[in-house]
Amino acid sequence: MDTDTIKRGELLHKGKANNVYLTDHAEYLELEASDRISAGNGAKRDVISGKGIANNIISKAIFSVLESRGIPTHYVGPGSNEASKIVKRATPILLEVIGRFKAAGSYVKRYNVPNMIPFDPVFIEYTYKSDAAGDPIIGEDAIIANGILTRRELGYIEYVTEQVALIVREFFSQCNADLIDFKIEFGKLPNGQIIVIDEISPDTCRILDKETGKSLDKDRFRNDLGDVAEAYEEVAGKVLKLSNPNH
Ligand code: 5GP
Repeated sequence: MDTDTIKRGELLHKGKANNVYLTDHAEYLELEASDRISAGNGAKRDVISGKGIANNIISKAIFSVLESRGIPTHYVGPGSNEASKIVKRATPILLEVIGRFKAAGSYVKRYNVPNMIPFDPVFIEYTYKSDAAGDPIIGEDAIIANGILTRRELGYIEYVTEQVALIVREFFSQCNADLIDFKIEFGKLPNGQIIVIDEISPDTCRILDKETGKSLDKDRFRNDLGDVAEAYEEVAGKVLKLSNPNH
């Protein structure tokens, strides 16, 4: 869809990393990726100049690929600036859906298993988005018992997450990066349809350079590795090259 004619309205919500604006179309929002970065549920914060634009380049490209492969998402088109995109307004489902190809991060800590043990097919787990509860891991029975999703909806989300996992892994592979794990979110449209929302970027994925093993994601910030913007911009540069090989 041509999003040029959609006009940004008032700020609706300022999240940890994104600003959400109303637009002159009730069914659309403008999602702007900011330079804010945080980890540990907001315990560690900073501002990384250039991160928002790099993330948005990557997220727009991934959502476009998902849409082209038939995965329903909130993505409509580019926004009014380089850091923003136009998205469908959906009611967020209060889950973070995590897909893992290899053990890392909280999984390794929780189970005290070696880093990078592979999963086949992708391992999927859920956390409940609740600051008050501390975003705990939530099992399938509790998701249903707590009325977050029906069993059928949960089955659909699991299926879509596996498809997203395969598509996003292939996408990053073309950028010479290995997808270790990722987090996605889902929302519901007024007609009840479930779609992928939020962003998919180095803020929400663990990716390593295929040759060097260098971390190209938020782990650079979490683990004080430095050069956060440079790593995100390196990935964004490869994404731009992928969509426009002559540049
Ligand atoms: P872990 O559970 O190992 O910390 O994270 C697994 C994957 O999901 C990583 O790629 C991580 O970036 C992503 N992830 C998990 N929780 C969050 C979250 O609250 N916010 C963001 N942006 N990403 C998350």
